[in-house]
Amino acid sequence: MKQRLSILGSTGSIGVQTLDIVAENPDLFEVNSLAAGSNWELLAEQAVRFDADSVVIADESKYEVLKSALAAYPIKVYTGEQTMEQIVCSSEVDVVVNALVGYAGLRPTVAAIKAGKKIALANKETLVVGGDLAMRLAEEHNVPILPIDSEHSAIFQCLVGEHSPVRRLIITCSGGALRDVPMEELWAVTPARALQHPQWQMGAKITIDSATLVNKGFEVIEAHWLFGIPAEQISVLIHPQSIVHSMVEFEDGAIKAQLGTPDMHMPISYALMFPCRAKREAERFDFMANPTLSFAEPDRVKYPALDIAYDCLRRGGTASCVMNGANEVAVAAFLKEKCRFTDIVGAIEYALGHAAFVNNPSLEDYAALNEESRRLAAEYLKL
Ligand code: NDP
Repeated sequence: MKQRLSILGSTGSIGVQTLDIVAENPDLFEVNSLAAGSNWELLAEQAVRFDADSVVIADESKYEVLKSALAAYPIKVYTGEQTMEQIVCSSEVDVVVNALVGYAGLRPTVAAIKAGKKIALANKETLVVGGDLAMRLAEEHNVPILPIDSEHSAIFQCLVGEHSPVRRLIITCSGGALRDVPMEELWAVTPARALQHPQWQMGAKITIDSATLVNKGFEVIEAHWLFGIPAEQISVLIHPQSIVHSMVEFEDGAIKAQLGTPDMHMPISYALMFPCRAKREAERFDFMANPTLSFAEPDRVKYPALDIAYDCLRRGGTASCVMNGANEVAVAAFLKEKCRFTDIVGAIEYALGHAAFVNNPSLEDYAALNEESRRLAAEYLKL
């Protein structure tokens, strides 16, 4: 029987690549619903092409134009962020692919878990903000959360079939677009420069997060929640070629790694097809074209965000929710040239230093701290 998908964030980098996998495997998957922020043109095109049952456009000002574009088709059109929480719970949905960017991903993930849907998770912010809550609910509702993030997919693949304890998770890191820019020059970096990621074509927010290493810090937090490994047993290693997607070290000293070309189709298809694998003829790694794999320690002075994320993970509660909220505001401001690259970490530190702290947060606490951290970041950046 085909798996019926609800794809949130279908117009983004991960969403579009998820639809490539659906198109390659028409006898395995069908699209039930699609959701996007404001790109109604692409959403309409996808809905028609994949014969979706319903679509959600979060931006209410795009509702009418989307509705007219789809008037000739039997496709239900909804608007508003809350509607995403409803469509993922439909009895016609088996799997929810959460490819939203940012805090917006948390509530739909929680709703889908409560409705017992299998989750294929790209939206790392779900776990950064509310990992404790999401994983607890997933256990309670016996719902699998399958990672799409390439590092976590790699770790997941290394852990399959293992029963012994793990000594260490090693998350690899390309170093982002500014890896070779000296620390003294970071303040002058433009958005265009910071968006030139050497290996991955991704959405703007994650590309900037890769340049600050906020993304890598978030991945440490994400790995903690997905695999139940404490911060002390998760390390980060710079690996400029992005061929080793991450590794797991076991107590006998053995290290398992997952390797391949940097292409998100692989982890997306693995999350959708686990425990099977996709047949992708074009996917052939050429060792001779990539003869050198190198590794280095991250520069923790140049990239303070990494240690801030470790601190947030150790503090627990709403600390990483605050880091995330402040970061979202600062990255958006940087992309609009309203602050400097180096202000991003400044805004995060300011928000963490001033925000309230809730130890065992509910969904409402996360919402309140998300708002507070955004306000604090805006205050720091004088927006
Ligand atoms: P993009 O910015 O490319 O896409 C984000 C998607 O979410 C778009 O469809 C966008 O719609 C939609 N969206 C944004 N805000 C809202 C909202 N408030 N309500 C509803 N929809 C919204 O992001 P990516 O695909 O790069 O990243 C998605 C997630 O996956 C992120 O959490 C990222 O960290 C993670 N990830 C991404 C990787 C990649 O290679 N891109 C790799 C690993 C993880 P619209 O197009 O209309 O704006």
